[in-house]
Amino acid sequence: MESNSTVQRESSGPLSPSSLIRHSVVVSFPLIGTVAALYIWLHGYGPGMIELSLLLCFYVLNIIGMEIGYHRYFAHRSFKARKSVRIALAVLGSLSYVGPLMWWVAIHRLHHKHCDQPGDPHSPQLTGNNTPLNKLKGIYHGHIGWLFNAQCARPEHWNRYALDLYKDPVLFRIHLAYDYWLVLGILLPAIIGGILHLSMEGFLLGALWGGAVRIFLATNSIWAVNSLGHSVGGRQHFKRGSDQSRNHFWLAIITLGAGWHNNHHAFPYYATTSFKKWQIDISGWIIALLEKSGLIWDVRKPDFDKINQRLMDKKY
Ligand SMILES: [Zn+2]
Ligand SMILES: [Zn+2]
Repeated sequence: MESNSTVQRESSGPLSPSSLIRHSVVVSFPLIGTVAALYIWLHGYGPGMIELSLLLCFYVLNIIGMEIGYHRYFAHRSFKARKSVRIALAVLGSLSYVGPLMWWVAIHRLHHKHCDQPGDPHSPQLTGNNTPLNKLKGIYHGHIGWLFNAQCARPEHWNRYALDLYKDPVLFRIHLAYDYWLVLGILLPAIIGGILHLSMEGFLLGALWGGAVRIFLATNSIWAVNSLGHSVGGRQHFKRGSDQSRNHFWLAIITLGAGWHNNHHAFPYYATTSFKKWQIDISGWIIALLEKSGLIWDVRKPDFDKINQRLMDKKY
């Protein structure tokens, strides 16, 4: 497995300039903005209630777009939704800085298909023997390294894995407009901050805290599901093949439910990742509310007979 994956990664050519620029911006810009926000804070311009509210609101919207929209709805089809909800979820997901809709869905489906084997774009398990250095390399690759590896970030024929989405012309337009969503992801909190403060300073603080800091926290939480959620700690209640996914309580809290990643890999089409009362899945609760309101339907619910049959530890 080691030689295969190593060869695969080494044989890939460089990323296209546009992908390289986009991925560099997505990884570095929020980090630079966060460092700037902390520096300014140290010099007396800390976040007030408006900035903290912008940070929290946009963080939650960011994760909802990513986890309920991109992940559970578009990638796994865990429920059906009316057109307005579909568009709202596509836009919210696009604002979350994790990539264009169809690309993200295709990469994620590839991840499930080849979970922790060669062909999985962001597995942290494919860096060779289980030495501490290889483990660290794997975590880096699963987190952000894969974004700079052409074989992983642009696998051959990746778009075959999202053909169902290409049939929808509105979704296709949202996908193509990704770079505009990146700009809007910063501009929206900046404009709200500017209006609420009625000043340029409010605009800039809004861009920093509701934009850069929020994106830094949200993207790293999401990427941690790929890196830590497939490598260290946590619990593995279900095991199949090469799958190294784990359930992490803390990751489930900050990702609104995505951190119950071992549950998710065992049953990827369920609209919830929670199989126990104590497994907090805020995205699942929001999906239940949307179902009650009639905005979504055919929500795929857990079959507990099947879950119990697959359990590794019956005391779970
Ligand atoms: Zn996974
Ligand atoms: Zn998934």
